[in-house]
Amino acid sequence: MSRPIITLVPCLADNYCVLLHAPESGETVAIDAPSAEPIKSELGKHGWRLSGIFITHHHNDHTAGCQALKDHFACTITGPETEAERIPALGRGVSEGSALSFGGHSVEVIETPGHTLGHVSYHIPELKVAFTGDTLFALGCGRVFEGDPQMMFASMQKLAALPDDTAIYCGHEYTLSNARFALSIEPENAALVAHVKDVEAKRAAGVPTLPTTIALEKATNPFLRTASTAIRARLGLIGAPDWQVFARLRELKNKA
Ligand code: ZN
Ligand code: FE
Repeated sequence: MSRPIITLVPCLADNYCVLLHAPESGETVAIDAPSAEPIKSELGKHGWRLSGIFITHHHNDHTAGCQALKDHFACTITGPETEAERIPALGRGVSEGSALSFGGHSVEVIETPGHTLGHVSYHIPELKVAFTGDTLFALGCGRVFEGDPQMMFASMQKLAALPDDTAIYCGHEYTLSNARFALSIEPENAALVAHVKDVEAKRAAGVPTLPTTIALEKATNPFLRTASTAIRARLGLIGAPDWQVFARLRELKNKA
């Protein structure tokens, strides 16, 4: 089986839709649907027909394109069942362990609540790729709107436990602003300093900073580095539980 083609579609101000196309089966799936027009136009460029949409959470900037895309392609919209009433045209509700597939590969649903209570991530182990919506961002994490910091921390840890070589696609291009915050928290992290140069070069060239990987995030993302002595010392939280270090980081980032 040949590898699916993965394409990022920038939508709205800083959202991404990710398109996955399996050449053999002809299936094309969108991860989130921020806006129908840019997705339709990208599909048109390749001559692909949308067969499905996997929604990570109910926020409008991830679902506003659902109805128009469904009307046009009659595609199946999949998303967290606990957010069913808030996701337009949802056809199939999923939860942890639901059986999904794409192009002959099984797709795991991982519940990652915190940003919203029903937020899910999608993991395709055979392709070594995961879609983390507004939970794990490159060099950051989503705001905790509906859950609490402990819940969000647990969700981030679930994602951190994926294999190191898993490619990560998230819902927004926030990497540069996340990078500035990360540097303010852990300026002595050489891997971070080097990585930020790469992020800056990509943004200066106008290209996406995604995908990232679990290994790179564990080495550079402060929200996954709550065990770091340097970070704990900077925050005055040497002996605190990891989730409290996480909560403080989230609080500081909210104010940054
Ligand atoms: Zn969101
Ligand atoms: Fe969002």
